[in-house]
Amino acid sequence: MTDKEKKIPYKIYLSENEMPTQYYNVRADMKKKPAPLLNPGTLKPMTAEELGHVFCDELVQQELNETDPYIDIPEEIRNFYKMYRPSPLVRAYCLEEKLQTPAKIYYKFEGNNTSGSHKLNSAIAQAYYAKKQGLKGVTTETGAGQWGTALSMACSYFGLDCKVFMVKVSYEQKPFRREVMRTYGASVTPSPSMETEVGKKINAEFPGTTGSLGCAISEAVEVATSTEGYRYVLGSVLSQVLLHQSVIGLETKIALDKYDIRPDIIIGCAGGGSNLGGLISPFAGEMLRGEADYRIIAVEPKSCPSLTRGKYVYDFCDTGEVCPLAKMYTLGSQFIPSPNHAGGLRFHGMSSIVSELYDQGYIEARAYEQTEVFAAAEEFARCEGILPAPESSHAIKGAMDEALKCKETGEEKTIVFGLTGTGYFDLTAYQQFNDGTMTDSIPTDEDIAASLAKVPQFPGNETK
Ligand SMILES: *Cc1c(COP(=O)(O)O)cnc(C)c1O
Repeated sequence: MTDKEKKIPYKIYLSENEMPTQYYNVRADMKKKPAPLLNPGTLKPMTAEELGHVFCDELVQQELNETDPYIDIPEEIRNFYKMYRPSPLVRAYCLEEKLQTPAKIYYKFEGNNTSGSHKLNSAIAQAYYAKKQGLKGVTTETGAGQWGTALSMACSYFGLDCKVFMVKVSYEQKPFRREVMRTYGASVTPSPSMETEVGKKINAEFPGTTGSLGCAISEAVEVATSTEGYRYVLGSVLSQVLLHQSVIGLETKIALDKYDIRPDIIIGCAGGGSNLGGLISPFAGEMLRGEADYRIIAVEPKSCPSLTRGKYVYDFCDTGEVCPLAKMYTLGSQFIPSPNHAGGLRFHGMSSIVSELYDQGYIEARAYEQTEVFAAAEEFARCEGILPAPESSHAIKGAMDEALKCKETGEEKTIVFGLTGTGYFDLTAYQQFNDGTMTDSIPTDEDIAASLAKVPQFPGNETK
């Protein structure tokens, strides 16, 4: 029986009462756990008390919780999710037809909300716990603006103040997301600013700098830790964020199970690792428990190849070196990725959960150049209708390549990929692609070795 006869719909929508009521914490099923965050001063694991100066209490508990497989999603968060979830699992019939592949392709579409990406899933959870703790507000950084946009929506819903440090070059060149944030009531400051000690220092050292994500993180952390009633929140990388993003994978699994579909390959783009980690969590859990086997593929840009060319060591999450040390695949916190339009993938490191699963061999990784990614994005847009975000298009390219392999071998593999967002605010990038002026820049081995040499060196953490 063909899938059309089995009536697998173009879109599988869950009803509201089928939505997950608990997050899934994949660390509980990992025999070897991700390495703990370290205090860079003492090189000892960060305690809940130390983390509590920076993050909300309940989020610290989630960050440190590596034993409870399931954590309840509070009703307030579930109510918010209902505004834009469940998100559809789409059968890419049109793409399959266009590629003439026997593969069956599905994508979980997370772009159907104003912030345009999956980041809202964690933003609303983090805002909820901040509100519950009685805080006045939160601070954060944003690059291209997806995370800041999501957080500003979440904060306005719970009546929290939201202070965003936005990488200066994006603040100036990408005014649209900045204005979405302000519309939702956030204050947006270009970083490096003169409002923080670390910002002043970076401005003095590098006059005229247009900023970086790592430097904006340092500013946001400084304001959070020095202002009464404020904490810092982060949109990716941390284990708590992957926990919240597990709703993507849980919904995907429920939808697949409804139609007895078993994926062979699961693909996600990887910046800090949150959407990939969230999408794969329940599937990786089955692998870890020995119940099933899947191929999981992380796709990153060749301009910022942390999994494919980085080292698995402890490193700072920020350029200012004020954050704890995380053990992760990293290119070095001083690595400055060459310009790439997938702003959300320009982070030097990778979630410690994704890093550990990759190190244990549960995940494969590959990297693409941005021109081939945009070519895939355009092909996808022309047949599936959705204008994809440049970040998400890395996963599209990965899925298309796997589907084309099936065309050669005749295998009918089932491929599921995460379509994390839409690209309406990325049209300058599409313009460059359409004009034929887009270029690819790939760091040399020397570039990467130079930034890895600046990773903190201590016994067991040598990068040479
Ligand atoms: C931020 C972002 C990403 C990358 O972040 P992860 O934490 O790796 O998921 C991917 N896609 C979109 C649309 C984003 O906004």
